[in-house]
Amino acid sequence: MDIRGRNRSSNIEDRRGMSPVRKGMGISIGGVLFLIVLSLFGINPLPFLGVATKQPEVEMQQSAQPYQESAEEKELADVAGVTLAETEVTWSRLFEGRYPAPTMVMYNEMTPTGCGAGQAAMGPFYCPLDQKVYIDLAFFRELEQKFGAPGDFAQAYVIAHEVGHHVQHLTGAADKVRQDQQSARSKAEANQYSVMLELQADCYAGVWARDAAQRLQITQQDIEEGMRAASAIGDDRLQRASQGRVVPDAFTHGTSEQRMRWLMTGMKSGDPNACDTFNAREL
Ligand SMILES: [Zn+2]
Repeated sequence: MDIRGRNRSSNIEDRRGMSPVRKGMGISIGGVLFLIVLSLFGINPLPFLGVATKQPEVEMQQSAQPYQESAEEKELADVAGVTLAETEVTWSRLFEGRYPAPTMVMYNEMTPTGCGAGQAAMGPFYCPLDQKVYIDLAFFRELEQKFGAPGDFAQAYVIAHEVGHHVQHLTGAADKVRQDQQSARSKAEANQYSVMLELQADCYAGVWARDAAQRLQITQQDIEEGMRAASAIGDDRLQRASQGRVVPDAFTHGTSEQRMRWLMTGMKSGDPNACDTFNAREL
């Protein structure tokens, strides 16, 4: 994959220079007035600060300087940012120009999101409530070192998969799944809907890769990288790694074989209609 000379998407929110701070000193208006009154009477207000403060909350604080990327971080951010831009090209065409692109938030360790606190340990994710993809780029290092899936195309696949969830938000598939899950009769059935949704996002990542193949000069070796990533983060592999056994009912992303197959389905067809995991004879 060759991203040289290509620009990152403009739909990026870089929060890497921000750190979460506990706002222990969040003061209410009443508190401020109270402190001013104390000052007016010549009383040092400092000992009363605790009285005037409200509940501590977590907020992001921007550091004085813009975030300084290391060379490695720049490389990862370029791959993520260019991939995002390329998904915009693909999906704008497929949505015939009516594609509200998602924003990608790059953060370190922890950040507030429309879906609650985002934490790096959760891996990259999409929040439909604010239509943003959240990623701590350290995940790419984990993908390489812990899951044995290195390479820029493996990283691009991860971003394209999250963008796939945004597409599902736009088509209504994600909402439909949430409704179906609520009326599901068992946890196993609810999980099955989640697997269908995840495999469709994999397929959409493949649709993107097919469309971008020429622009980014995606090679056979890249595709193998993507397959390795899809295989590495299949539920069966993750489960075996974490608990030493495989429990199919608890699958929420699909097996390694399923993830690879649906990614390939998208790549071969280049057609989102080929990604109907909800009505597929074989999942
Ligand atoms: Zn997913």
